[in-house]
Amino acid sequence: MKTEAQIKQCQNCKGTFVIEPDDFGFYEKIKVPPPTFCPECRYIRRLLDRNEYNLYKRKCDVTGEDIISIYRSDAPFPVYKQEYWKSDKFDAMEYGRDFDFKRPFFEQYEELRQVVPHVALVNSNSPNSEYTNQSGNNKDCYMLVTSEDCEKCMYGSWQDHCYFLSDCYMAEKSEFCYEVINITKCSQCAWVYDCSDCVNVYFSSDCRGCTDCFGCVGLRSKQYYYLNENIGKEEYKKRIQKIIWDRDFINESKEKFLKVKTSIPAKFFHGSNIKNSTGDYLQNTERTQMAFNCRDNKDVAYIQDAWIQIEDCRDCTEISRGKLSYEVQGVERPDRVIVARSCFSTITDSCYCDMCFSTQDCFGCFGLKQKQYCIFNKQYSRKDYLILKEKIIEHMRKTKEWGEYFPANVSPFAYNESMAQDYFPLTKEKALGAGYTWYERPSRDYKITLKTSDLPKTVDDIKENITTEIIQCSSQNSSIEKEKYSLCTTAFNITSLELTLYKKMKIPLPEKCFPCRRQDRFLLRNPRKLWHRTCMCDKKNHFHGVGKCEVEFETSYAPDRPEIIYCEKCYQAEVY
Ligand SMILES: [Zn+2]
Ligand SMILES: [Zn+2]
Ligand SMILES: [Zn+2]
Ligand SMILES: [Zn+2]
Repeated sequence: MKTEAQIKQCQNCKGTFVIEPDDFGFYEKIKVPPPTFCPECRYIRRLLDRNEYNLYKRKCDVTGEDIISIYRSDAPFPVYKQEYWKSDKFDAMEYGRDFDFKRPFFEQYEELRQVVPHVALVNSNSPNSEYTNQSGNNKDCYMLVTSEDCEKCMYGSWQDHCYFLSDCYMAEKSEFCYEVINITKCSQCAWVYDCSDCVNVYFSSDCRGCTDCFGCVGLRSKQYYYLNENIGKEEYKKRIQKIIWDRDFINESKEKFLKVKTSIPAKFFHGSNIKNSTGDYLQNTERTQMAFNCRDNKDVAYIQDAWIQIEDCRDCTEISRGKLSYEVQGVERPDRVIVARSCFSTITDSCYCDMCFSTQDCFGCFGLKQKQYCIFNKQYSRKDYLILKEKIIEHMRKTKEWGEYFPANVSPFAYNESMAQDYFPLTKEKALGAGYTWYERPSRDYKITLKTSDLPKTVDDIKENITTEIIQCSSQNSSIEKEKYSLCTTAFNITSLELTLYKKMKIPLPEKCFPCRRQDRFLLRNPRKLWHRTCMCDKKNHFHGVGKCEVEFETSYAPDRPEIIYCEKCYQAEVY
């Protein structure tokens, strides 16, 4: 018999949340009690452990070399450079210890974590790409995270098989693009969102198979369109040639594009082929609830950034190929895993593991490589392991720790260093008030050699010595902006790689530093929240006849947003 849906109070935010019958089925199957936090607080708790792109210069605690790391030099635990950490020279088993049944689990786990060396960052097989993280197989990349198989890409995240991109988020098989979000197979595009198979397209969204378009929304296989109007080849070329690509023009174009965007109906979610699913940026999902940026999933809920064959999982963030796993963050191939973080290769039948690589049947371990039957980094026989594991689970049920993810107060990152700030931004006061920590960037006294007001207006005005200039970030010009951009680096420089891209695309230099640009870009995406809404269509020639469409859905477009939001059927009747 199925348990009915239950309304619960979140122990963190004190709001109410619903546990669905399917959720109860899952918790029973993996033998954990129902969650005490609401889905959003659970997600934030996992995000607190993710620092993707705040990279610091520090020393390696074993070789003394200067390294780049996601951990600051004042972190209380040792940090080893990646090559050493992964080598046979380092073995985390030497920190093994017994479990003390008189004390809570997390307290003891944290004591272990504080002494075991952490890997500085993860970017395997990536020549000339030392400032990349949670990435692999990249070449000549800079400030690129959560990306694979890219070359000459900068200041980006979630990119796959891309060439020469800067300031992009979610891009696949694309080349020569700038300031884009969610594109596939695009070339020479800038300020473009949710597009595929487009070439030479600017300030546009939801376009497919388009070439030479400017300020367009919802077009399919079109050419020479300007603000959604066909103006023909000659007129289009004339207009594009006349453009002076300076920052004023770009700001005006963004506004014009927004006007078009809010006049054309949008589908209530981004993606395609979803069955009985809710969320945003979804592809090929079945019975998937509250999922964001997910692909090829079945029977999952409360998951984010999870691609490729995820089945029967809940509360997973940044995983690929997972089964029967719960409360997992940053893990590749979790299989029957309960609570784990930052394990970058297969982990099986394990609980409460962190930074473990290719382990199975491990419990409460940190930093292990290819191990089995370990508890608190200590080796046991299979038989002893199984007995002790059950005893610890029993203990954790009593202390109410079993099934709960690592608590926020032991996260290695401050709120505004973690991805929590990206998806659920808080002011310093709010973050501290909620009990999170906050990172104040140390004040820097860069010797500014180029003020925002003196930035060259167009790419043609750029002098050769631009790559030697220390440019003031424009956010530093007002106190309101200063407060808004808490991770502003105050100044930035232009690398010769990015200059090549700006010249090729004829676009002017940015006026903000990378963290500020990233913050602006992330505001262009819908939040990872859902609202219950009704289709806004009142067209007379649709399936709903003369009346308004009454189809309801869950959407990441908040009710107060300016876009016209349609159900899938009405949207297809208008756009295709
Ligand atoms: Zn909550
Ligand atoms: Zn800045
Ligand atoms: Zn409709
Ligand atoms: Zn309709």
